[in-house]
Amino acid sequence: MLKFKRPQKPKGFEKNVKEKRKEVEENVKSGEKPNFDALWKNYKEDLAKSQHTKCGYCETRIATDNGDVEHYAPKSQISEFKNVNPKTWGEEKKFLNNVKNRQLAVKCDSGYWWLAYEWNNYLLACSLCNRTWKRTLFPILEKRTDIPNKKDKETKLLLNPFDNIKPEQHFCYEPTGIIKAKEKMVGDKSVKSIYGFETIRTCGLDRNVLTINRKEKATLAFFKIKMISRESDKEKQLEYFRDIYNAGNEKYEYAGMVRIIFQQKTGIKWLELKELMNKNVIK
Ligand SMILES: [Zn+2]
Repeated sequence: MLKFKRPQKPKGFEKNVKEKRKEVEENVKSGEKPNFDALWKNYKEDLAKSQHTKCGYCETRIATDNGDVEHYAPKSQISEFKNVNPKTWGEEKKFLNNVKNRQLAVKCDSGYWWLAYEWNNYLLACSLCNRTWKRTLFPILEKRTDIPNKKDKETKLLLNPFDNIKPEQHFCYEPTGIIKAKEKMVGDKSVKSIYGFETIRTCGLDRNVLTINRKEKATLAFFKIKMISRESDKEKQLEYFRDIYNAGNEKYEYAGMVRIIFQQKTGIKWLELKELMNKNVIK
């Protein structure tokens, strides 16, 4: 995952959604199921521009026809995993993108309806992350109340690329492209990031097709980092730094992964690398 700067609310957005927002509120007040119009579709381009047409969850480039303006907090229903057995969390069908054995239970038939027309609840996601995997899941730390309420205090466990997050604290990667929740020592115990864990299983970020897609770039990043530590020639070392820096450019697929690998393996912050590159003139 790569942190993005959220685009400014487009001019006219509030005016365009005002009536619909009011209508939804009235639906809910009178006990009816809200009737949503997909006005958010009009803003796909704004989000795509900010996210370099990449999925906010899996970092894969998406053609505009299979990208969705996704509601981070689901608007009309909330589901949970049926049980704790990982075999029921789903897996990708071989040679297809379908998911099998994913057992979800509807927790409540009313979602975060008041966020349906909130600019900060949108991001661009690929249809696989959004429709095939995440669907109406929205993990929180607390036990869910039956119906979500505006006043509920919730610790959201699904990481949002537009929030002030530090992805390197929640994910880690192997040269094979495998993604895992980052572990850290708490006392003498190794504890994995619950944010990383929930984001991976909610969006299926460990699905096979993604692992394969990430592999080449992950392998290369690990190799270049190894060469940095082995190289004594400063100029050549700088070349390796530059290769990593270029691969982590936000416009490229899996740039967030490259940054995470680099920061975790070297202990150097991405901003520090940026400064180093600026000093040495980026080629
Ligand atoms: Zn995706």
